[in-house]
Amino acid sequence: SISPDQYQQAVDEAYAKFKNVKEGANADYIPILASVPSDMFGVVIITRDGEVYSAGEQKYEFSIQSVSKPFTASLIMAEQGPKTLREKIGVEPTGLPFNSKIALEIYEDRSVNPLVNAGAIAAVSLVEADSEKERWKKVLGNIEAYAGRELTVLEEVYDSEYETAWSNRGIANLLYNYGRLYSDPEEALRVYTRQCSIGINTHDLAMMGATLANEGVNPVTGKKVLDKEDVPELLAIMATAGFYDESGEWMYSAGLPAKTGVGGGIVAVVPGKFAIATFAPPLNPAGNSVKGLKAISYISGKLGVGLYGPN
Ligand code: GLN
Repeated sequence: SISPDQYQQAVDEAYAKFKNVKEGANADYIPILASVPSDMFGVVIITRDGEVYSAGEQKYEFSIQSVSKPFTASLIMAEQGPKTLREKIGVEPTGLPFNSKIALEIYEDRSVNPLVNAGAIAAVSLVEADSEKERWKKVLGNIEAYAGRELTVLEEVYDSEYETAWSNRGIANLLYNYGRLYSDPEEALRVYTRQCSIGINTHDLAMMGATLANEGVNPVTGKKVLDKEDVPELLAIMATAGFYDESGEWMYSAGLPAKTGVGGGIVAVVPGKFAIATFAPPLNPAGNSVKGLKAISYISGKLGVGLYGPN
């Protein structure tokens, strides 16, 4: 097993090695994300027992963005089972960018997966709810249960994204047209955009991952969020689609299921053991945090925890 010193050393080394990397740029298609300080960098490991190892920025609240997606997929699994997730949304990686519309046209059943925008908007629409308010409450409550604390929406991020959400609105309408959206499209778009605007810090993100590492039970609150039987399926989707059209590269270098977001967050899960979360806003062209992906790949190699063997 890995000792506390080994964990801390891996985190410290990853932080020191990559903190001065200058590649990448903040997302700017959501205008406000361009103004988040680009040099912030945080690395946190939380084990399934709730032990925390960290370096760098841990308190700054950034928007969760697409890192929210597997957690809402988990809500669908918890409410309606993995079979419904597979049939009504899909689990196949698209091999295309996160905001692809082509993906909706080339696959005959219009099926995507819940980790790209189309599947994530569909997931929000599939949550059982009689009103928009109830839909939102369930989505937020589920993410809070993963993080183990109350969270708030970064309203400026929400406004900035919703005012410019023409691409996602197009996706929602296309899905609706094909019978692959399960609520009013504009309602799904609003709840999805709010979900992406939830503020979290690096520590929260690691706790969310640690809940998956701990078979669906939050290590600190003890609350069960997802049945242990459903965790492997969720991690499988993260492994195949968590980095969109860069998922192959990612598995090749890190060997771990993970999810990224354009706010600069990444969470990776070592099943049954721990989670690694990073925050660093500059992204590569696929929309994945440059420092984050380097740091997690480094830690995975250093601790020898890649799923397919130490690399
Ligand atoms: N809210 C963002 C969007 O819909 C999330 C994208 C991402 O993080 N990759 O475009």
